[in-house]
Amino acid sequence: AKNRGRNRLVKFNEAMNKEARMRLWLEIELQKVLQNNGLEVWYQPKVNARDFAIDGAEALVRWKHPIEGYISPAQFIPVAENSGLIEQLGLVVMREVFTTVRRWKQQGILSGRVAINLSPQQFGNPNLIDFVKKLLKSTGVNATDITFELTESAVMSDGEHTIQMLNAIKKLGFALSIDDFGTGYSSLSYLARFPLDELKIDRAFINDIDTVPKQVTLIENIINLGKALNMSIVAEGVETRQQATLLSNLNCDYIQGFHFYRPLPKNELEAILVKNNRS
Ligand code: C2E
Ligand code: CA
Ligand code: CA
Ligand code: CA
Repeated sequence: AKNRGRNRLVKFNEAMNKEARMRLWLEIELQKVLQNNGLEVWYQPKVNARDFAIDGAEALVRWKHPIEGYISPAQFIPVAENSGLIEQLGLVVMREVFTTVRRWKQQGILSGRVAINLSPQQFGNPNLIDFVKKLLKSTGVNATDITFELTESAVMSDGEHTIQMLNAIKKLGFALSIDDFGTGYSSLSYLARFPLDELKIDRAFINDIDTVPKQVTLIENIINLGKALNMSIVAEGVETRQQATLLSNLNCDYIQGFHFYRPLPKNELEAILVKNNRS
């Protein structure tokens, strides 16, 4: 028995090592791709829940490794956060999105805003405001064409800092969205205290709306709560027509999900926008 216990410990250590090695590998590779300017930004369109026409998009970073292929942001964003590389990654994404949105708006092909994800570390960085200000100037984009998405955990961490940051971002003209709503298990009081424009209902609530009747009641009331607080409502992770119809009937404002569009390379979305604009 003693021996088995030891074996288990060895296995445990091996697993730990494997994970630690993986994180280290990701960090080194991420450093390289940042240096070579090799990250891409893809865009997942959102549709208006009334007519299902494209109305804005969410920017999602993509990393195509020369050997491993696409690596999921769910895997490398946490590594970027823990290693400090998130700052550089964030700058790359913001510069790319600001530049692209400015161009699409000048061409008159994009309606709605484009959303950028901010991780808790990015949001906690006091340099963020200065950087964003400079980027507004250098790219010429209108802040009103951009939304920043924050998770509940990012805004809940530190009250004073949060309020100041949110107000500073709002003052520049950006919109603020609360991402993955309902998964943070936090108090709802922040909804009243913080200047938020949009609420994104997490995919976990959408998954089983057509099979669990009480889930519909829950979503209906989340939508009504958000609207009563003057927020617009986005449902994410919509994968079926039934889900889309239901959400539309519940007066949800925007819908995002594979049923309509997957995240697309910039050029593919641009082609769709140009085509829609002509017809
Ligand atoms: P998120 O912000 O919740 O982004 C939505 C995720 O759901 C995306 O995964 C998207 O591809 C996926 N998705 C969209 N529609 C559907 C659907 O109908 N069904 C399913 N099953 N999934 C759907 P992705 O691109 O892998 O991103 C994962 C997470 O990585 C994001 O979750 C976000 O937290 C983070 N992330 C992505 N890009 C960035 C970035 O530029 N900066 C930061 N800080 N985080 C990012
Ligand atoms: Ca998001
Ligand atoms: Ca989300
Ligand atoms: Ca998420």
